[in-house]
Amino acid sequence: MPVLASIRLRLQMLQPNINTTKFRGEAPTDNPSLALLSFWQSEPIMTDPNCLFCRIIRGEIPSRRVYEDEHVFAFDDINPQAPTHVLVIPKRHFAGLKEADQSEAEVIGRCHLAAAQIARQRKIEQGYRTVLNVGPGAGQSVFHLHVHLLGGRPLSWPPG
Ligand code: 5GP
Ligand code: ZN
Repeated sequence: MPVLASIRLRLQMLQPNINTTKFRGEAPTDNPSLALLSFWQSEPIMTDPNCLFCRIIRGEIPSRRVYEDEHVFAFDDINPQAPTHVLVIPKRHFAGLKEADQSEAEVIGRCHLAAAQIARQRKIEQGYRTVLNVGPGAGQSVFHLHVHLLGGRPLSWPPG
């Protein structure tokens, strides 16, 4: 077995909440020390084994996937509030906007840009809304940051 694959396997056994398939970069060598160094230096995507949306990303819970790239996953909301109601989420688990730190700035932007791309594809650019519910008082019920993309109908303001 290649060195990196064997390290992945062992790490997966020790740390099931690390998605080792998403480690960036491949080991440049079959030298075990260099492979391990490269592995540690690469950035893991952390997932939470008990989080509903992490389980959707891992395919343990089915979803209708709309978009996916290295950092972001998007899928149809199970209880749509508009003709287009897509949830755009970072692959890396964190609870929400108030829990985010500087290191999540880029992926929060990526989620919004993915939403804009989906809106373009769905031809709802005449008017759509991206929403982050922050905290239970604002209706947040799943504690893995998600951007709601809503469109395809008139959207009133202010929201309820
Ligand atoms: P929140 O209320 O936290 O802002 O948004 C959570 C969203 O997740 C809700 O709109 C809800 O309908 C959606 N949701 C909850 N469980 C599931 C699920 O199992 N699959 C999908 N696709 N959406 C879900
Ligand atoms: Zn999660």
